[in-house]
Amino acid sequence: MRKQIAAANWKMNKTLTEGTTLLNEILSADFNLTENQELLFAIPFPYLINTSSMIEGKENMFIAAQNCHHKVSGAYTGEVSVSMLSSIGIKYCLVGHSERREYFAESNQTLAEKVNLCLAENIKPVFCCGESLSIRDSGNQNEYVGNQLNESLFHLSEEKISNVIIAYEPIWAIGTGRTASAEQAQEMHAHLRSVLATKYGNDVANNISILYGGSVKGANAAEIFSMPDVDGGLVGGASLVAGEFVQVIKGLK
Ligand code: PEP
Repeated sequence: MRKQIAAANWKMNKTLTEGTTLLNEILSADFNLTENQELLFAIPFPYLINTSSMIEGKENMFIAAQNCHHKVSGAYTGEVSVSMLSSIGIKYCLVGHSERREYFAESNQTLAEKVNLCLAENIKPVFCCGESLSIRDSGNQNEYVGNQLNESLFHLSEEKISNVIIAYEPIWAIGTGRTASAEQAQEMHAHLRSVLATKYGNDVANNISILYGGSVKGANAAEIFSMPDVDGGLVGGASLVAGEFVQVIKGLK
């Protein structure tokens, strides 16, 4: 069975003290992960080392970076390279969050470079994709999101793509409180899996986790995650409140 994943994305929120308190509250909450379930915490760069030590020895829990640079190293002041992340033991990295695409003009081609560097350093990219409201309203969402996969991922070998996690995040549902219905999420996830199957075959496609993101919270997680092609969620706002995120975790299949 595919990994079922609850991934927290703190974005640019929380001081070190606040973040440490939040993570401690989550870690001390009453939940159990099955062998098949994983938690990811996508944390701001300055806290990656501290928070990694907080989850040391905990099964199926990982700290993720929220971004990385698309070049190996060099004169890119203020940026963080994939090998820097690897050197502090990071195993997961968000790539292509819609906020990065929109505010930092990240293209599908740049994201392909990030994916390549991550995989070369044994970091699993959580590749984010999703359409805007105008694309959804025009009915072209399947083609648009399929093309994001095509341009950023489909140069990968079967072995490499098997280490990618996909997060479908319709932009109109991120931080808006407007969640895609469970049926809308399932429809897109099934489409993406069929696109993956056409390129890589059913075995590969059936083993890639596809997370849903967009206003997931404690009250709607279980319903969305119950869909057959939804393998958990990437969670922003609700991941900043321990009780909410614990409910999201409990909603995993
Ligand atoms: C996100 O940041 O990836 C996200 C889905 O945010 P939110 O849960 O707040 O909509």
